[in-house]
Amino acid sequence: MKMNDVTKQHRNLIAGEWVEGADVNENRNPANTDEIVGLYARASKDDARRAIAAARAAFPAWSRSGPQQRHDLLKKVSDTIAARADELGELLAREEGKTFAEAKGEVMRASQVFGFFSGEALRQTGDAIDSVRPGVEVMVQREALGVIGLITPWNFPIAIPAWKIAPALAYGNCVVIKPADLTPGCAWALAEIIHEAGAPEGVFNLVMGRGSEVGAEILDSPEIDAVSFTGSVETGRMVARTCVAQMKKVQLEMGGKNPLVVLDDADLDTAVNCALNGAFFSTGQRCTASSRLIVTAGIHDRFVEALTEKLRALKVGDPMDSAVHIGPVVDEGQLEQNRRYVKIGQEEGATLVCGGEVIEGDTPGHFMTPALFTGTTNEMRINREEIFGPVATVIKVADYDEALRVANDTDFGLSAGICTTNLGHAAHFRRHAEAGMIMVNLPTAGVDYHTPFGGRKGSSYGPREQGQYAREFYTTVKTSYIQA
Ligand code: NAD
Repeated sequence: MKMNDVTKQHRNLIAGEWVEGADVNENRNPANTDEIVGLYARASKDDARRAIAAARAAFPAWSRSGPQQRHDLLKKVSDTIAARADELGELLAREEGKTFAEAKGEVMRASQVFGFFSGEALRQTGDAIDSVRPGVEVMVQREALGVIGLITPWNFPIAIPAWKIAPALAYGNCVVIKPADLTPGCAWALAEIIHEAGAPEGVFNLVMGRGSEVGAEILDSPEIDAVSFTGSVETGRMVARTCVAQMKKVQLEMGGKNPLVVLDDADLDTAVNCALNGAFFSTGQRCTASSRLIVTAGIHDRFVEALTEKLRALKVGDPMDSAVHIGPVVDEGQLEQNRRYVKIGQEEGATLVCGGEVIEGDTPGHFMTPALFTGTTNEMRINREEIFGPVATVIKVADYDEALRVANDTDFGLSAGICTTNLGHAAHFRRHAEAGMIMVNLPTAGVDYHTPFGGRKGSSYGPREQGQYAREFYTTVKTSYIQA
């Protein structure tokens, strides 16, 4: 396996050159804070400006390049990611903390996304419409938007950059990406792959650094045409305000408080496995995590007992250990937030059935046992606010109607799941759950790479990401009239 050299400074990619930053970021392993995963440059506002100018300069030629060139670039990136999956998976596990199996899965997802959009580059079709005026023809075509600013979070440090970069490039845009300061390693590796695959100078630029510096420059620059952001609701609202004031196109993917409904008629094993996977895997650090388990009275006690038994058997520890199910929390700040919410839950009168303790590993890291609360009501803060850790709650309800009402009673609307063997309830839930993605007898987290991703209410804003739907954001429509 090719490992990162910890003495090398990984620099920003600006106008096809590797450029030193204003500052250096020590990227540390959350499972062993003594271990430096790598040194990464932090860009200044000036660096960001140069990257944006380079993208602007590259745009005319790239937007007019043929689909073959874009296909070939993206296909090469896809193939290289897949060929380096073990090494990239290890880097991801070491900088973010999810288990190696989950990390490698995420790397393969990034490869698949580039593969999908390499095909989409060749499938850019338009419409020919007969005009109401004889002799006039109307053509509807899609064109690239221009320079796209991408701002990404730490929890999917390769998949989320991939699902923004790939469509942006496929449709002829140029890119400036700022990954999360906590996890620059995967974005840097992706930048190296895109650069070595032959992206022309300035078409793709990487500026690592802080949101308040580099991110703010991307939002404020008049040379940026559109911004795609994934992160917290608070930052997302500010991103939207700033972009709309400048009439930049904007797309936001934000938080979740996703319900998983378990009905009396559910298959118990299916329900328990959906809850276990959806709420706790990837250390619960997923926007699609099922943090609210809404369970009808007839199955409640059996469900809680079976889930608790499974939770107690989960091993928390080093993500590179194949016996470990749950890696560390990403950093001290997130661990502190998780602990605070466990305390809030107890103060609100919920029963902590298991977990919620900070534990020591073999190495100094941010380890926490998965926590399950019962006896909660949907009004409690632990059921209204996104915790973003391995913490889930059980809300006991009388029947399906109450379950649906509680599921929809939230400020968020990303993903919603139901476990049932009743086709009527499954079909009704698919229609009436107020979320962008619905899962029946499946975990709320874990979606395909070629289908639309996104939500409603406070979870998302703007067009969907992924699949063919991604072109709604990354292209603009032109209608042209021709009289021969
Ligand atoms: P965050 O909002 O703190 O940061 C996201 C990105 O925004 C980072 O790159 C950060 O540096 C940047 N940023 C911060 N302040 C900025 C500013 N003033 N100007 C410009 N950019 C700025 O989020 P996070 O902690 O990295 O990620 C966790 C959040 O992401 C959770 O709320 C989670 O639900 C959400 N998330 C959502 C999805 C989704 O698709 N809906 C997917 C993954 C994560």
